[in-house]
Amino acid sequence: MNEMEINEMVIKCPVCSVEGVAKSIMKEIEIPHFGKVLETTIQCPECGFKHSDVIALEQNDPAKYVIEINKNNLSVRVVRSQSATVSIPEIGVKVEPGPKSEGYVTNVEGILTRFEDAVEKALNLFDDDASQENGKKTLNEIRELKKGNGTATLIILDPFGQSNVVSVEISEIPEEELNTLKTGFSHIEE
Ligand SMILES: [Zn+2]
Repeated sequence: MNEMEINEMVIKCPVCSVEGVAKSIMKEIEIPHFGKVLETTIQCPECGFKHSDVIALEQNDPAKYVIEINKNNLSVRVVRSQSATVSIPEIGVKVEPGPKSEGYVTNVEGILTRFEDAVEKALNLFDDDASQENGKKTLNEIRELKKGNGTATLIILDPFGQSNVVSVEISEIPEEELNTLKTGFSHIEE
């Protein structure tokens, strides 16, 4: 993986409206066998707002990505585009794209955490016995997988082929190293 370009801007925070502290960081990332994605992150240290989105810059054929979840591949990188449906059939969980759906770069464990959060929210919303029982069972199955116990299948269906499962570990660039990188962009501050 190559991070091609990094454009960092100081912006007015869209949430707390404080000027001059929030940062918008754009990275163009080239992922082997996949293509280029644009990752945009907005972070505000003033109010704690954080938002990130991943947009695929190249359109591909519809694709189905299948990976077995097991203790050896929890850190495998997963790129989920806004248009992808993510499911784990053995557990009966599925996330479908909606108007507010975001693309993201995570790993298999991160996908499990997203499902875990969603089931926890559902448990708070639906307090009938059947929902509680099913929800707790599902939550337990997700947590066991996160601990590396058992296996299940992660399926990503993407009509635009813009998602990906990448068996390459991507690390963050430490701040000191980042400051010395030439980006080809000038910093814009307003
Ligand atoms: Zn803010």
